[in-house]
Amino acid sequence: MTANQEIDSILQRGADGGRITPEEALLLYTDAPFHALGEAADAVRRRRHPDGIVTYLIDRNINYTNVCVTACKFCAFYRAPKHSEGWSHPMEEILHRCGEAVDLGATQVMLQGGHHPDYGVDYYETLFSSVKQAYPQLAIHSIGPSEILHMAKVSGVSIEEAVLRIKAAGLDSIAGAGAEMLPDRPRKAIAPLKESGARWLEVMAVAHRNGLSSTATMMMGTGETNAERIEHIRMIRDVQDLAVANGYTDSAVEAEGSVGGFRAFIPWTYQAENNHLKGRTQATTLEYLRFIAVSRLFFDNVSHLQASWLTTGKDVGQLALHLGVDDLGSIMLEENVISSAGARHRSNLHELIWMIRTAGRIPAQRDTLYRHLAVHTTPADDPTDDRVVSHFSSTAMPGGGAGRTELPLVDVS
Ligand code: SF4
Repeated sequence: MTANQEIDSILQRGADGGRITPEEALLLYTDAPFHALGEAADAVRRRRHPDGIVTYLIDRNINYTNVCVTACKFCAFYRAPKHSEGWSHPMEEILHRCGEAVDLGATQVMLQGGHHPDYGVDYYETLFSSVKQAYPQLAIHSIGPSEILHMAKVSGVSIEEAVLRIKAAGLDSIAGAGAEMLPDRPRKAIAPLKESGARWLEVMAVAHRNGLSSTATMMMGTGETNAERIEHIRMIRDVQDLAVANGYTDSAVEAEGSVGGFRAFIPWTYQAENNHLKGRTQATTLEYLRFIAVSRLFFDNVSHLQASWLTTGKDVGQLALHLGVDDLGSIMLEENVISSAGARHRSNLHELIWMIRTAGRIPAQRDTLYRHLAVHTTPADDPTDDRVVSHFSSTAMPGGGAGRTELPLVDVS
């Protein structure tokens, strides 16, 4: 209980699974006492996931090119076309990295890249079908609405045609990447050449109705207001309402009757290095944790909430497990995009499991669709592979490149 009856009543409704309005979410974000807010959010987690399980994933983020025409101000990863540091990996290198990931127990790859001026739908069809053919056991949870809009434009086809073609080629799930801030003002301020938030959501809605589920992200800390943060999640919740109302499912789990659309929400914090924004604004740890809790209460129609230990650090990631989070995300065998901007937190399989267990939860490895692959009820159930560590080959890290000094690249000039 708090000293404010209005806040008490909203917290209680949210904890019980009732819907809270954007205005109420903003009031909670700015004024609710921290412990009461966290307790209400954790009540939602306990109701949604009464088994006490917190999940993690083994995957690898593989970047096919850093060449991009969109020049987002917060991005440290991209290089403009013809820049001397621009690169694209040939297919053999991408497949080589997928093979390494499989050897380390990965169940998913996230193929991400810049908006290369020459990459239309056919490039992505080849990319996904090649990976699927070589490693059918890997789920391809990749690209985002921005890449889909870009490839559709390059190829001169509709969003729907692009989605259907890349799905047929092997794409299993769309990553929530590129959401950053969806409301117009903050989006234009940090990514003036990117599609609008409305277009980002339109692509997701097309994918959802065609049986491709996805995640949704948010990047905090580039000068957006509290109200704009809440507006971002309001926009996502409205699109998820469509998925629920229309009974959209993911094609892969239709038989299990699970709801499609957005499977998870993943807020993360802007990283300050090597980009045009230069870290003039950043989200504080408390802002992040309060937003995690508010998100859990606000999203009455999204199953999972993921902590971003890569950007906030492992202690904060673990603390988030007490504020409604039920997933620690990936071990990230490789990550170059956010790492380029300064996110240097690393972990390993044992540590991720330890973080979950010492938070009083039961660790479980999951797949892309959040199905449990191995539940580690006691330490005797824990996996023992010491090789499963973060960034074992990130090019953004010193000594990266999968142990090789030279990365094979194709000429993009
Ligand atoms: S965030 Fe993506 S779209 Fe924006 S500049 Fe970086 S690579 Fe390009």
